Amino acid sequence: MSKLPTAKHGVMQISPYVGGKSKVDGAVKPLKLSSNENPWGPSPKAKAAFEREAQNLHRYPDGGHLALREAIGAAYNLPASQVICGAGSDELIGILVHAFAGAGDEVLFHEHAFLMYRIYTLANGATPVAAGEKNLTVDVDALLDAVTEKTKIVFVANPNNPTGSMIPFTDIKRLRARLPEQVILGLDAAYAEYMEHADYADGCELARTSNTVVFHTFSKIYGLSGLRLGWAYARAEIIDIMNRVRSPFNVNTPALAAGIAAVLDQDYIASMRQKNSLERARVTQAIAALGYTIVPSHTNFLLVKFGTEVEAMNRHLMARGIIVREVANYGLPEYLRISIGTTEENTVLLDALASFTRQGAA
Ligand SMILES: *Cc1c(COP(=O)(O)O)cnc(C)c1O
Repeated sequence: MSKLPTAKHGVMQISPYVGGKSKVDGAVKPLKLSSNENPWGPSPKAKAAFEREAQNLHRYPDGGHLALREAIGAAYNLPASQVICGAGSDELIGILVHAFAGAGDEVLFHEHAFLMYRIYTLANGATPVAAGEKNLTVDVDALLDAVTEKTKIVFVANPNNPTGSMIPFTDIKRLRARLPEQVILGLDAAYAEYMEHADYADGCELARTSNTVVFHTFSKIYGLSGLRLGWAYARAEIIDIMNRVRSPFNVNTPALAAGIAAVLDQDYIASMRQKNSLERARVTQAIAALGYTIVPSHTNFLLVKFGTEVEAMNRHLMARGIIVREVANYGLPEYLRISIGTTEENTVLLDALASFTRQGAA
């Protein structure tokens, strides 16, 4: 065999991202609560739009995403010219890092932040820096203390995955005000549409007047994870730079069409927010009644502490065809992350949790 080529600096430090499992041995139709998907699926209008595009698959998509950007602009009250679309917000997070950070630069985020920030940082030869959190919640002061001359981007997921915790917009504004002007603040608002907290904002207001980029996705409340669609909003100059490194046809035709229909159906999104909120309250209460600690969640998933019983509980659930997410790779080995399902699914989950015999229990 010929000698192997060596990967670029940083690449071999990446632990490949492992998505939520979707299969379990023996279960014909497992219950998947491992990827924070919308269990009710997308708006029927989005499905219809997707099906219509089956007739157009031989044509290239609109590489400028104009109609989708206009629909997003209308729904979120933003200028379409300052919106960029991608194959999931993951791609856009990658584009931002690729365009702004390289060898010698630092990309800062918080301890239990979404893993893709670290992965894209390493892939671009830059240095990832993680600041501590407080009570599994973003600590603005710890982030500010970790800023150096080399810091190019600071990522905050608000609310965060996998913790489910959030910080008020007051704190985000304080972070922005104290960051050096030229440092980019990347606000990952993947769960923004689930938010009901009075002092929450996705940060688009800050993006109008500062170097702030706000990321949204169609994978969570919009129920289109399989299509791969996300968007970001920032000042025109940043969007221009991101567009220079974007692949020309990064979003496919059915995704563009379904995305337009989905984002224009905000009544559906409001009903999803309400359903999730009711189920989240029910599941939270029932799990708490079983004696487990839950991080207060603002999202469509719960981070539950099982302590030393975490592996036994995970096996117990798998044996019943229920797949949840292990989060040891996030530095949370005593926890499992459980997505909120439909009412029926949650009942199956709660019955399974209740049938687990706790060690030390009678
Ligand atoms: C799910 C998720 C994303 C993005 O998902 P895409 O499917 O790539 O749009 C981004 N950030 C966080 C925090 C998430 O949980």
